[in-house]
Amino acid sequence: MDVSEAYLPWEVFTPAGRGDLPPPRVFIAPQRYIQGRDVLGDVGRYLALLDAKRVAVLMSERAGRNEGARLLDGLRAVGIETLVSAFRGECSIEEITQHANALAGERIDCVIAAGGGKCIDTGKGVAFRLGTPVVVVPTLASNDAPCSALSVIYSPEGVSTGAEFYPDSPAFVVVDTGIIAAAPERYLVAGMGDAMATWYEARVCLQNPAGVSTVGARPTLASSAIGEVCARTLFEQGGAAAAAVQASAVDDALEAVVEANTLLSGLGFESGGVAAAHGVAQSYTAIPEIHANYLHGEMVAMGTLAQLVMESRTDEARKVAEFFAMVGLPVHLGQLSLDPGDTAALDTVSEAALAFPFITNMPMPVTAELVRSSIIGAHRLGLDVAGKTGDTAYRRLHSIAAS
Ligand SMILES: [Zn+2]
Repeated sequence: MDVSEAYLPWEVFTPAGRGDLPPPRVFIAPQRYIQGRDVLGDVGRYLALLDAKRVAVLMSERAGRNEGARLLDGLRAVGIETLVSAFRGECSIEEITQHANALAGERIDCVIAAGGGKCIDTGKGVAFRLGTPVVVVPTLASNDAPCSALSVIYSPEGVSTGAEFYPDSPAFVVVDTGIIAAAPERYLVAGMGDAMATWYEARVCLQNPAGVSTVGARPTLASSAIGEVCARTLFEQGGAAAAAVQASAVDDALEAVVEANTLLSGLGFESGGVAAAHGVAQSYTAIPEIHANYLHGEMVAMGTLAQLVMESRTDEARKVAEFFAMVGLPVHLGQLSLDPGDTAALDTVSEAALAFPFITNMPMPVTAELVRSSIIGAHRLGLDVAGKTGDTAYRRLHSIAAS
């Protein structure tokens, strides 16, 4: 994994000079998390707390077409000057540097990143380079990027290459649930895939005395508890939240699941740690067919099943697969457009997973063979579950006509 610029958290929290002392417990969180219907129009008022008068707004094309105008109107209404930058699709060092260079002489007070996970991660990198706070306005609840002080970095072609860590967490994370309810259901469901991994990965890190969080620290009880509540919320309210989005409605179930996907998942993964679920998920980006057609949370769903199989927790794997099938997440390789007989692709994924730095949080030595057999084991379990539960939700989200 490449780690670029910014700072190296493990050199701060767990330096070599600590000797045999165990790593300290570290908990990381944004300064403010605000979620509710129509909070988008209030961002200008929140910015007064930062004394921000001139801001750069990094927006995806999708956000620009939809809620971007509302965000800009709200800012201008309270006298905040805005400079708009168009995010072009990948969170690469090239993209981050380009925006940072373009804004370098503009004397801005903060960067607002409005869009999906990659736009948000790019905004964090730009703000770090400009030395300003970052305000995150997720327009999708499809991933756990909004709350963390790190960016997952991709090549300009979209292959996962590493991460970048920042000394500061986002100053504000502002989630307008009206926007989430109006976005396609598939994004919310993908967010559930990303969020469901949180508890299973945090548990591995907590129970393994050698397990460390993303900043090289020991997980706190708080982050583990957050991960557990996250999973429970999804099991109990995930189906209802998906139904709310189908009806473009905001209700209590949607509010709960948006919080699970965004806040609970974000705090849980950053301070609780990640393991094989994300190791396998990030490795799927090395397969162009998967990278081009599937969302991060959909890959994490398959990674979570592989991790649970790797841990020999078959009953839990089945319970999770049943939930995934019910909401429309992939549960077998065919639902990721991967032929289980494609040994070259499986070798690529298995080898890449070994290079994932947090794969060592798993309690057993992880070999390419173990990754491959766990992926295949999860695939077989998923086929069985899909055979019983059906694939109606998956087909609806992927617009495949029933055969
Ligand atoms: Zn994730």
